[in-house]
Amino acid sequence: MQTSEPSISLSNPSFSNLDPTADLPGFDAQEPPDPKLIDACVHCGFCLSTCPSYRVIGKETDSPRGRIYLMDAINEGDAPLAASTVQHFDSCLGCLACVTTCPSGVQYDKLIAATRPQIERNFERSLPLRLLRRLIFSLFPYPSRMRLLMRPVGLYQKSGLQKLVRSLGILPQLAPQLAAMEALLPPLSPQAFQDRLPEFVPAQGKARYRVGLILGCVQRLFNPEVNEATVRVLTANGCDVVIPPAQGCCGALSHHQGQEQQAQDLARQMIDTFEQAKVDFVLINASGCGHTLKEYGHILKGDAAYGDRAQAFVQTVKDVQEFLAEVGLTTPLHPLQDDPLTLVYQDACHMLHGQKISLQPRQLLRQIPGVQLREPIDAALCCGSAGVYNILQPEVAEELGRQKVTNLLNTGASVIASANIGCFVQISHHLERQGKSVPVLHPMQLLDCSIRGVGV
Ligand code: SF4
Ligand code: SF4
Repeated sequence: MQTSEPSISLSNPSFSNLDPTADLPGFDAQEPPDPKLIDACVHCGFCLSTCPSYRVIGKETDSPRGRIYLMDAINEGDAPLAASTVQHFDSCLGCLACVTTCPSGVQYDKLIAATRPQIERNFERSLPLRLLRRLIFSLFPYPSRMRLLMRPVGLYQKSGLQKLVRSLGILPQLAPQLAAMEALLPPLSPQAFQDRLPEFVPAQGKARYRVGLILGCVQRLFNPEVNEATVRVLTANGCDVVIPPAQGCCGALSHHQGQEQQAQDLARQMIDTFEQAKVDFVLINASGCGHTLKEYGHILKGDAAYGDRAQAFVQTVKDVQEFLAEVGLTTPLHPLQDDPLTLVYQDACHMLHGQKISLQPRQLLRQIPGVQLREPIDAALCCGSAGVYNILQPEVAEELGRQKVTNLLNTGASVIASANIGCFVQISHHLERQGKSVPVLHPMQLLDCSIRGVGV
């Protein structure tokens, strides 16, 4: 891992041979990164040590400051939008740690959000990458399509073929990104193939709130128990829960990867669905989705039919932990085991940096009798999941996953609490790689066990 700060250099050999009079391929006129936001960067470099891609790759061009330089250079026509520059935007995890760190308030989140759609519109990736990305964007946001694929995947896991493929070890050499996708696949439970939750679950006792629940398209497949636990926790705490069956994907994956049109379409669909549900709050238990849902005002800005409705929708969106910490738990909690239970809470980037939520999950977990919370070092550093980053950039993600799991294990905690499906998959994968079997549970699962008086 790189710790020292490399000198600033954009003298990439691929730029140095350019004819200065030639027009370089660049950003189009449709909302390029805003020069005013770029100029807010005073190049102090405080953000570098908190940037996970810089910590692993160690190059200025793979740091927030380097990327801001690159955006500026492309805006000014001094550098091309080409493979030599796009690779440095692609290496960004979008974790937003730099936004938290920056003392000058540079809105890197807005800058990278403007850059990614520009890349999608104006740069042609290699054919294998285009195919892989098309596969991801045509599958992951659609649970019904994913379920069709999961059936043969389930067979692949159970038949022993998975073991054979992994033992041969040739897939990583042939297709590293496909190998990463294969390696990350968690075991599928029977609930993965069908949504089992009803459309309406009444509060236990007098209802205090009527809330809508977003199931998450990846979560309902890879960890559906979290949604079931969330419903039990909410109803036990006086919430009528509405789960519209028509709900789709929130668009987080598409938004983070610059698939603007798809993200907008999915956002409109989500707004339509929850407007009809007539709820006080729309709740989400996955942090990546929560951050995107809160961005709908920005994603649909300028949309004559949906702009205002998106703003109104955003006012109702809350992470489930944020909501419960605010309204308070009203039902008794029981110890999860006879002895004190040591827990480490893992901050997901889009919760910590994106939504500024860090105290609320800890406050809730501390209310469980006998729980002792531990803190890992580098708690604010990304685990390498970052949506589909661990598929698209497997090498950097691998190192970040290894570091994160090592730091979590070093706390000595007997349970890891994680409130994001992507982190859950990444951490579970790296625990397995390190031969450890520490349970990774969502805080809603821990609260659910505590309310029901059952052990973890
Ligand atoms: S983004 Fe902020 S912290 Fe990073 S170099 Fe620019 S001003 Fe400094
Ligand atoms: S979003 Fe994360 S990976 Fe990207 S520049 Fe900022 S700190 Fe680095």
